[in-house]
Formats: sequence, C-alpha cells, structure tokens
Amino acid sequence: MPQHPPEPFRIKMVEPIRLPSPAEREAALRRAHYNLFGLRSDEVFIDLLTDSGTGAMSQEQWAALMRGDESYAGARSFARFEAAVQDIFGFPYVLPTHQGRAAEKILTAILLRPGQYVPSNTHFDTTEANIRYRGGRPVNLVIDEAYDPSSTHPFKGNMDIAKLRAFIEKVGPENIPFGMLTVTNNSVGGQPVSMQNIRETGAVYREYGIPFIIDACRFAENAYFIKLREPGYADKTPLEIAREMFVYADGATMSAKKDALVNIGGFLALRDEDLYRRAAAQGVVWEGFPTYGGLAGRDLEAIAVGLYEALEPTYLAYRLGQVQYLHERLQEVGMPVLALPGGHAVYLDAKALLPHIPQAQFPAQALAVEMYRAGAVRGVEIGSVMFAHPDPDTGEMVYPALELVRLAIPRRMYTQSHMDFVAEAAREVVARRERIRGYRITYAPELLRHFMAWFEPL
Ligand SMILES: *Cc1c(COP(=O)(O)O)cnc(C)c1O
Repeated sequence: MPQHPPEPFRIKMVEPIRLPSPAEREAALRRAHYNLFGLRSDEVFIDLLTDSGTGAMSQEQWAALMRGDESYAGARSFARFEAAVQDIFGFPYVLPTHQGRAAEKILTAILLRPGQYVPSNTHFDTTEANIRYRGGRPVNLVIDEAYDPSSTHPFKGNMDIAKLRAFIEKVGPENIPFGMLTVTNNSVGGQPVSMQNIRETGAVYREYGIPFIIDACRFAENAYFIKLREPGYADKTPLEIAREMFVYADGATMSAKKDALVNIGGFLALRDEDLYRRAAAQGVVWEGFPTYGGLAGRDLEAIAVGLYEALEPTYLAYRLGQVQYLHERLQEVGMPVLALPGGHAVYLDAKALLPHIPQAQFPAQALAVEMYRAGAVRGVEIGSVMFAHPDPDTGEMVYPALELVRLAIPRRMYTQSHMDFVAEAAREVVARRERIRGYRITYAPELLRHFMAWFEPL
C-alpha cells in the first residue's frame, strides 16, 4: 500500500468549479469585507472551509435514497438506520436528529441543571453552547500536549485522566450529570483519542456513577488512527475497533455530516431505556416523531449506508493519507503547519509565517485572505478573530496561544491534484510573506463574531 493511496473511487458525475480571475477575487474580497464567510461558493475554487456536510455521497447512497420510506411513523428507512447504528455503536436505543447539535440540545435538556458541570477532553463549540444555554459549565481536561504545536504525541486528543479524577473529586460527582469525550478531538486539531484512553475515561466515569457520552462525529477516522498507532490493533478492522470504542460508553451524540458521509443528519444513541424515553419525548417537540427526527426517510437510508462506507479500510487509508499528503506538500513549499495533521484537516501556523503582524492585527485572518487571493482557496481563521476577548476583570485583551488557518478537507470530494494546487497557492503566499499586512475590524456582532465581522486592510 503506497503511503498516499490514490482515490479508491472513480468519478461518474461532475460538479464544475472555476478559478475566478485575480480581479474577480479582489472584487469578491472587497464585497465580503475580507471575511471569507461572506464569499459566494462560485467565487471559491477549492473550498476547505469545513468537512461538515460537504462530502460526496457514493452510488450506493444515491441508490439508497430511492428506497426512502417517507411514512410518518415506523418507516422501513428508520428500521435500516436503527439497525446500522445498533450494529456499529452497540447502543439499543437510537433517536435520529437533524444535526449533531440537536442531539446535544436534547441530551442537555433532559440531564443538565443550571450550575452543573460537564467535563470532556475538549468540547466542540456547539456542545459548549448547548451546555451554557442550559446554565451548565463545560470543562475541558485534554492532556497538555494538545496545546503544544510541535508535539507529536500519537494521541494528542486524549483526556487527562488525572485531571478528570481530580476535577470530579473537587466539584463532586453529584454535580456532574454526564461526562463526555470527543473523538477525534476536533477543537484541538482533529487529534485522535486512544482506545486505552477511552477505556480509562469510561472507568473513571463509571467509578463515580456518571453516565459517559461519546461525541462520535469522527469515530471512523479515530478508529483508523487507533489501528495505525495503538499496539494490539493493527490486525483489527475499523469496524471491530469502532465497536470496542463504544463498549465503554453509555451513549453517543453524532453529526452524520462527518463520518456518516451525508450532507445532513445526526442522532443520539443510548444504552438506557428510561433515558431514551425522556429523550424521545423531548425530541418530539423539537425534531419530530422518534422514527424520523427532523430527517426524511431517504436521509436515514443514506446514513445507514454511509456509516459502513466510512469504516471501509481502503477509504480510511485514502482519507487519512490525503490529509497527510497535503500536510507534506505544504511543508515542502515552506508553509509552517502544526506538526501533526488531524484526521480531517491541516492547520497553517500564521504566527510562524507572519511574525511581523501582531495578534491585535489578526495574522491568521491575513493568512486566510492571502490563500484566497493566491488561489481562491477558502480556509477558516482559528485565531484572534475567533477567540480574542477582553478580560472580564481588567478589560485587557486576552489573545489565544495559536493563530491558525484550518484547511478542512471534505470527504471524497477533491483529488490529489486539487491538493497540489492548494500547495502551489501556499508557495505563492510564502514568497510574499513579508509584504502581507494585518487587518482591523470595522464591524463585529457581540457573539460568534468571526462569522459576520467586517475587516479593513491596514
Ligand atoms: C460538527 C460537530 C458537532 C455538531 O454537529 P452539527 O451537525 O454541525 O450540529 C459536534 N461535535 C463535533 C466534534 C463536531 O465536529
């Protein structure tokens, strides 16, 4: 098997994309106030904004859509969806939802009371928002290596077990209605969690009687990292590894827009019948009857097929290989990147590339704009635009440790030559690094400002 296996598929239907001219890119940037969220997709050539819901479905998934049973209650499509989730995840009770965050919303509504804590390795931002929305407190207890950009720890997404135990002892298990673990750990760069860590996290939660819920969005990519990196798993299939991952948990929240290889959908899966009944009763109000949960029957069919395709070893070897390939190509052209790519993305290090731009002038935003300018490549800023905030006590600005641009690769969508093109755009940006200037914000909403802020070049 070559290190970067070629695409294990050929293309039967094409979606044209077009490289806008430099003048068109300049005009688009001005119209969008230099915020890449403001671009129209036609103005983008290679869209690496997110891997969420952006992937390509297979012929089997498209064929499955035709089988969609749109019965309001008890649809055959639900039975197929439920059987796939039960088979892979091992939880007997499955509630479909329109996205992952809807599963989080139901879970927090039925379990969380104001003032309570929910620990995780690192919560995803929608999970964090749902916990805060209920008056709860999200707590991140990932290992310290996760915050070191040069660390090559094989399971950089792991929970710090000692910190978890100390935290539970400190606040008391009665103040923790459930505990979580995100696999792979998206918010620290899509880094995997080892089987040993999942097992130990589960054991600690169980010791204190705390239900253990896995945020399973990238469970298949995580399973493959375990196969590649953890002793004892090389000869197991990703499906066998995935099944073991969930043995240690009481439930899972899932965004099907990731490792179920579809464009919309999610679910909440649970081991406990009583908890499921409460979740289903709540779900009826927000998502719909428990056998469709905000989705069409055909969506459930596509998820049932996609969950298995995401676990195919040749697909996963190609998937992780493609991310690795882009990571290597970027290093070849001199673009500084985080030492380890994740399962779904490569992270450009703007602080290292643009040391002359202070954080107050948004170096990662500047780098994201330059990648667009050079090749109409769209990534996303994960730096001061997203995270800088005034200290509530002193009023002084607090800046994040890292200034990153994430290039997230949609599943089965772009080819290796698209990745070569991204690397060539990066080469151009590296060549003119000294002339790149920072930005100032001219407008920003109070919450989640990165989506809607306006910028002006300095
Ligand atoms: C995407 C994501 C979610 C939320 O899922 P949506 O389908 O976008 O609502 C939750 N957790 C993680 C780790 C994710 O990546």
